[in-house]
Amino acid sequence: MQENYTFNIDINNMKIKCSIIKKNIKNIYIGIKDKSVYIRAPKRVTNKQILEFVDSKKNWIYKNIQKDSRREDKKINLRSRNYIYILGNKIDVNYICVDNNKIKVDLDSNRCNIFIPACLKNSDNLYDIAEKKLNDAIKEFSRNYIDNAMSKYINATGLIPKQVNIRKYKGIWGNCSSKGIININQNVVFFDEEVIEYVCLHEIAHLKYMNHQKQFWNFIFKYMPDYDTQREKLKN
Ligand SMILES: [Zn+2]
Repeated sequence: MQENYTFNIDINNMKIKCSIIKKNIKNIYIGIKDKSVYIRAPKRVTNKQILEFVDSKKNWIYKNIQKDSRREDKKINLRSRNYIYILGNKIDVNYICVDNNKIKVDLDSNRCNIFIPACLKNSDNLYDIAEKKLNDAIKEFSRNYIDNAMSKYINATGLIPKQVNIRKYKGIWGNCSSKGIININQNVVFFDEEVIEYVCLHEIAHLKYMNHQKQFWNFIFKYMPDYDTQREKLKN
């Protein structure tokens, strides 16, 4: 029997690659990455059983691939996309060639212009340089929205963080240390202002409750009754 192999499945006219990895494990695990399905299965499981398993998971696979590609779409990747999301709106990235030597980004809620020196126009790492500058601009742009949201809920709750840091984080929107330092992911500005407010309120609430138990969510609800809607937007 083959150990590792791949095959394609068809769901709603979408061709999806499935990679099977046989291992010394007890259960079957399924995951989604880069619009593909990854399955880890015990060695004893037959190919027919795997096909049946995949078939029974079709709805789950479809839903999660859609979710994964929406999430992927939100990431900045100038090499493959010439748009970004700012405050929930999709905006085009325009490249403008200039005579001077300075690469510059002009970013606002409705425009993103990247000024490229003529000498860089055909450079291999143009997109890497542009992306770095764009990330710097996003950090600056996000500051105003994060500060406003922070002030709003510091005033409302009376809870004051020791420090608020804004940075690009992988995998988290924010966190709060036991010392009262709050970190917010600058990429929250990809979403609308209500979502930014939710992320800030969430971390401020951790100044009082260092967990995600019922009291914590009750506290959030008190200041943002529709927090669930904002939370869902972040997940999607
Ligand atoms: Zn939390």
